[in-house]
Amino acid sequence: MIDVLVAGGGPAGWAVAAACARLGLNTELVDPAPDRPWRATYGAWRAELPTDALAAVAARSRGEAIGTIRHQLGWEYAVLDNAVLREQLATAPVRVLQGRVRDARPDPGGVTVDLGGREQRAAVLFDATGAARSVLGAQTRRSATEQTAVGVLVDTDAARNVVTPGSALFMDWRPHHGEPGWPTFLYAIPVTSDRVLLEETSLARRPGLELSALRHRLHARLAHHRIAVPPGDEERVRFPVDRPLPAPGDWRGPVVPFGAASPLVHPATGYSVATALRLAPRVATAVHDALSRGGTAAAGTAAWQAVWSPSALAVHALRRRSLESLLRLPPDRVPDFFDTFFALPQQHRWAYLTGREDVRGSAAAMGALFATAPWWLRRRLVLGALDPRGLSALSDEVNTK
Ligand SMILES: Cc1cc2nc3c(=O)[nH]c(=O)nc-3n(C[C@H](O)[C@H](O)[C@H](O)COP(=O)(O)OP(=O)(O)OC[C@H]3O[C@@H](n4cnc5c(N)ncnc54)[C@H](O)[C@@H]3O)c2cc1C
Repeated sequence: MIDVLVAGGGPAGWAVAAACARLGLNTELVDPAPDRPWRATYGAWRAELPTDALAAVAARSRGEAIGTIRHQLGWEYAVLDNAVLREQLATAPVRVLQGRVRDARPDPGGVTVDLGGREQRAAVLFDATGAARSVLGAQTRRSATEQTAVGVLVDTDAARNVVTPGSALFMDWRPHHGEPGWPTFLYAIPVTSDRVLLEETSLARRPGLELSALRHRLHARLAHHRIAVPPGDEERVRFPVDRPLPAPGDWRGPVVPFGAASPLVHPATGYSVATALRLAPRVATAVHDALSRGGTAAAGTAAWQAVWSPSALAVHALRRRSLESLLRLPPDRVPDFFDTFFALPQQHRWAYLTGREDVRGSAAAMGALFATAPWWLRRRLVLGALDPRGLSALSDEVNTK
């Protein structure tokens, strides 16, 4: 019997595995392709990253956003160097196995994990298998709300018409793609000193906007800015932002979802990597302390509570409400909505975007948005939050098995 088995070698799986192993827990990580590099471009607010991860920052820039007008966010955006981050995590004494977790059978003494052909006993299994799937088999009855995007890398100089050196454009909602319909924005982020990622993004839609539509808009937007579409690879993004929140009744003792599987994904931005990196040491400490008190059965519960404190559950529910309101805004008013949001005082925007356990701060941010919103938006926010389709979507979250 080992202490911790982690299913999934993405950033969340590695973060929790490394944190557990560094505390002396006997830790294994299993992934079907454990050496496959992480290909996604991972960005985060720099101040949200834990200190260790700062050494893996490949580019940092002043955060800006545009609804219909430009706003300074007042903090920095950072893009991670995936190889450096991974190397840093892999210095921890984690045993890495190639394989796939096929099933997990929890019992009061731990969990028996089927690795396809062999079994492993562990006190705790972290399910870090990503947003698309889960060894818990959690599913909703409705289709997922997805973030989708298509992006290309261009030289910093070529992108000057869109984003000036030293700046990162978190969102540009101006419809320079020239198409009516579902609102999409340009994400324009320096990824190294001489390359910028330009990505046409649908923040959240149920179901996600097709990648072909995003590609078409991206190319039209680049043409508008007189930027040639570069040959070569594009980044394709599709992941759900409303995976069910685990209700306490869903908690399965030693099988603990982590990362996008948990879901640590912020419903209104799609971000989860910085949260997973920050949270991993606290979760590992909870497991370590429970096991050192001799409680195999308590270790899973301690991990669940470290990931989903009552405050985290409350904030997640608030964020899901605001996602439902966002989904119901008239498409042509979405840029105005973001102007209102980005004009809020900095502490409100920061609390809403990063305060995962800050119930008071998140509620105050939503209250401030409501108070400063024009009447048409207030009406929409209230109607969106009370829309029965949104309420039934939330109640579906308890029917996850
Ligand atoms: C292209 C793209 C760009 C993104 N950009 C950002 C960003 O800038 N910032 C941000 O915060 N988020 C971003 N996200 C969203 C999200 O944070 C990422 O999806 C992130 O990879 C989630 O990390 P994770 O470790 O939870 O899961 P994943 O990275 O999906 O890793 C899951 C791992 O589990 C393995 N696995 C699956 N099934 C099993 C099994 N049964 N047994 C064992 N292993 C299994 C998979 O092979 C995979 O290696 C992006 C997503 C995409 C797709």
